[in-house]
Amino acid sequence: MIRKILQANQKPARNATHSVAGGEEKVLREIAKDVDLKDIKTIKTKRVLKEMREALASQSDGVAIAAPQIGYSLRIFVVSGKIFEKDFLNNRKERMSGEKKKNDAVEVKSKIKNLIFINPKISKLSRERTWVPEGCLSVRPLYGKTFRSTKATVEAYDETGKKFTRGASGLLAQIFQHETDHLNGILFIDHAKDIKAEQPQHA
Ligand SMILES: [Zn+2]
Repeated sequence: MIRKILQANQKPARNATHSVAGGEEKVLREIAKDVDLKDIKTIKTKRVLKEMREALASQSDGVAIAAPQIGYSLRIFVVSGKIFEKDFLNNRKERMSGEKKKNDAVEVKSKIKNLIFINPKISKLSRERTWVPEGCLSVRPLYGKTFRSTKATVEAYDETGKKFTRGASGLLAQIFQHETDHLNGILFIDHAKDIKAEQPQHA
């Protein structure tokens, strides 16, 4: 998934299509397969995770990526740690309102690790839903509004094969729904409204 508004200190995307499958590719329409639990710690899975991290890192506006987006029909998604940086949301609001950041100099940029979800299952979705802006690395340059649950809980395995449960609201809950859709062959444009083509704004 991508967010339209970039942080001030992010670099522009090097190449929008770099190693990311376009919306017309068949793998994006397949039901992805579960990763065999005994394969989680193998070199094969590690290589897929590495490629996913690299593809995500190459997209400055990318906040998450699913394995089918780089050609693997496997139930894995990765969420960028940058969405947990304390200034991520503030920055977006300021940039949307056109205000200048006052304390750039004192700001310390933290590096929070990406989150990995293997064989994720949404176990809870709030009944409350809201229209949120959404885009996708595989469906550039289209953006639209999707009707998403405001809260979601996912059960998944991490890269060491340990099962965990993660609850979320807001952006992360939206990401859970967007990325789980990818694993089921669904793209946001299948159900979004107000779909428009927009070029990302580079800082
Ligand atoms: Zn996507």
